[in-house]
Order: sequence, then structure tokens, then C-alpha cells
Amino acid sequence: MEEKLKRLAHQIVEKISKEVKKESRNNFYKLGKTVGIGADGSPTSYIDLVAEDVAITILEKSDIKVNLLSEEKGFVDFGGTCVFVLDPVDGTRNAYRGIPFYSVSLAIGTSKISDIEYGIVKNIPTGDVFTAEKHEGAFLNNTRIRVCEMPSAEMLSSISLGKIYTPRAGVLSKKGNVRSFGSASLELCLVAISALDYYFVGKDILRVVDIAAATLIVREAGGVVKTMTGDELDMEFDLVGRTSVLAGCSEALLKDLLPKA
Ligand code: MN
Ligand code: MN
Repeated sequence: MEEKLKRLAHQIVEKISKEVKKESRNNFYKLGKTVGIGADGSPTSYIDLVAEDVAITILEKSDIKVNLLSEEKGFVDFGGTCVFVLDPVDGTRNAYRGIPFYSVSLAIGTSKISDIEYGIVKNIPTGDVFTAEKHEGAFLNNTRIRVCEMPSAEMLSSISLGKIYTPRAGVLSKKGNVRSFGSASLELCLVAISALDYYFVGKDILRVVDIAAATLIVREAGGVVKTMTGDELDMEFDLVGRTSVLAGCSEALLKDLLPKA
């Protein structure tokens, strides 16, 4: 992966993070205001738009040509060959409710998750930066991270509950301790550092923008990212596809968690 592409990606992530922090200080009660409908048909909040505009402005001015797939605008052709897959704010509801758990997520690839070469997830409130490069490993603030060999003695997981509750989620939630944090990219990064043993989203709700970067981060940390059907997770770069996710430290753990056929 070319250094200049990585630099451009980090520049976008840092600028978005800075702008989002500024907005949450100065315009907190405006963050969640609906200002339009995104390319995927879901409402766009004020803070999503502000964050996405940062990326578009940088890419418009950039000498390096890179296309963009972003949550609100969809695909923007800047005449490049590679694509920045961006979720300007992952965990928007957390951001506008004042729960300090949301991120900027950016992945560099060409057409699908399996060809992603580089990924960045920045936890905006804490400033922690997770990165991964294909075949080069995963890092938290430039220190190498790896999943634990075995799940810990007492399981700790994040399971999506509420509206997307599934019977399997109910069964799993009775074993060990459960959290449900509301930002898929960061929940996957918690699996990458084995803060969580696994992350479970039982229904097809996540889009490629939510998980593109973090999927590479988990895999490069030695973890496994699958869907509820037990297949390796892969998705095309578009806003149509939706997926379930089951991510954890090992094949063996995931096999235990998936519903038995
Ligand atoms: Mn978002
Ligand atoms: Mn998201």
C-alpha cells in the first residue's frame, strides 16, 4: 500500500475527528437533527453531514485521485482506481445522546471487503487509533495487537439486542456477561484487543461502511469474522448489502456460538 494513500486516509480521519469534537462542544443539541436522507435511505443527522463534508472537501482538493463510498453520499467518483470506504461517524446515536463511544472508520480497497489493504478506526472521544494493513498486522496507537489464544475464563461479549434481537442472541446472552455498545466498528476493535471475547449481530443490518476497516483489523489481529451462516464475511462496496456479524478470537469459539445446523 502506497504511503501517500495511507497519509491521505489518516489526514481525513484526523480532520473528521477534530470537526466532530468541535461540533459536540459547540453545537451538541444540533448533532442529531435530521438534515436529509442518505444514499442508503436512512436519515442523515447534522453531525453525519458535517463529518462527511470534511472528507469530500479533502478529496476534491487532493492531487491523489481516490473514489469514495460514504454512508450519506454513497459512491462518489473522483477518477481514482481505489476506493475509500468511509463511515464518517459510526455510532451517531451515541454521539448525539452524549455516550462517548463512536468512531470514524475508513478502509482502502477496490471492490469488496476481502480486497481491503488498509483500515483505520479512530475512537473519537478517547483519541485511540486502530489500524491494520493486510499481511502486516493490526495496531492500537502504533503498538501491535493480537487476540488472545483462548477465550477468557468468563465470557464477555457485545450482543446486539433490542429491535434486532434474535432467539440465538437470547440464548447467548444468558452465558457470561453481555454489553451492547452501539458502534460496530469499535465493538469489532474491542474483539481485536480481546477486551471482548466476541461480537454478535444476529440479523442482516450492518453495511459495508460500518465494518470494512474493523473487519481487517480483527483479521490482522488473528481473529475471525463470519456471518450467521458461518461463512467468512465479505461484502461488495455498495450501500445495498447488509450483513450479520459474528467475530471472535478463534474458529473454535465461533463454532460454539453459531446455531447448530
Ligand atoms: Mn455513520
Ligand atoms: Mn455506522
